[in-house]
Amino acid sequence: MTSPIPYSIGIPGQPWGAAEKSAWLSRQVRRRSYADDVLVRIERLRARFDVMQYGLLEYGAENFPLRAIRSRGWRDDLPGVLVTGGVHGYETSGVHGALQFVERHAGNYAGRVNLLVVPCVSPWAYERIHRWNPETVDPNRSFREGSPAQESAAMMRLVAPLRERFLVHVDLHETTDSDESEFRPALAARDGKPFEPDAVPDGFYVVGDMEDPQPGFQQAIVAAVAKVTHIAPADAKGEIIGSLVVAPGVINYAVRELGLCGGLTRARFRTTTEVYPDSPRATPAQCNAAQVAAVCAAIDFALAA
Ligand SMILES: [Zn+2]
Repeated sequence: MTSPIPYSIGIPGQPWGAAEKSAWLSRQVRRRSYADDVLVRIERLRARFDVMQYGLLEYGAENFPLRAIRSRGWRDDLPGVLVTGGVHGYETSGVHGALQFVERHAGNYAGRVNLLVVPCVSPWAYERIHRWNPETVDPNRSFREGSPAQESAAMMRLVAPLRERFLVHVDLHETTDSDESEFRPALAARDGKPFEPDAVPDGFYVVGDMEDPQPGFQQAIVAAVAKVTHIAPADAKGEIIGSLVVAPGVINYAVRELGLCGGLTRARFRTTTEVYPDSPRATPAQCNAAQVAAVCAAIDFALAA
């Protein structure tokens, strides 16, 4: 065994300080436009949905309006459904899947649920195709009191008055090859820890909450997505990314303890989707469709329960 090449920033074994963080930031390049890809599509939805701005991210000279889409005619007697995408900005199908769900399917649920959809929680990272915000903070480990991530704090403020009202929350993610080639090595380097390589699961899976796993709900989502794209098999240890596979394509995490977006609400039915976009067997359109299938299956299961 040879040890992996050290990450190109910092000294192995020593957590990053301000100099290393600023070296990392200086390497991040804007590669796509949140305004063109996301805000334009949200604007077009104003004819049928309410659009609200729940915050403004400000990073240096750049700012990003944070926008959410809500059912028109929100009714207090209906159950709430929260859909979040782009908590990790690079996980493209989460953002585009959330938008596609609203554009093509949300109308089917009118009068049955109150929808709140936040397609892109982390717009700066969406533009850089990165996991962290510019302060080298992962928003999806930051859903906690006194959050170190503006992105997560803004979502927590948006959801706080409604937290008990949700029946369903689907948080849309991807697991990518760049997790192993860039993001996990960067994380280990940032924290001064050794990087331990792992395999990237080939296919879709969901992450439930260890404290309240709702196995029937998770399996219904996997069954719906299996019609669109392949499901990740367990590895030789019976695991996916180091967690025991409890049913095909289902693992559980300590969601709240880890500060994940999936623990943001008190919804009875909560899941985190993980689409695999780097498979030669999955096109971007299929990945978006997989996210949409997961959202629809989640709502359908919860309404029938
Ligand atoms: Zn993610």
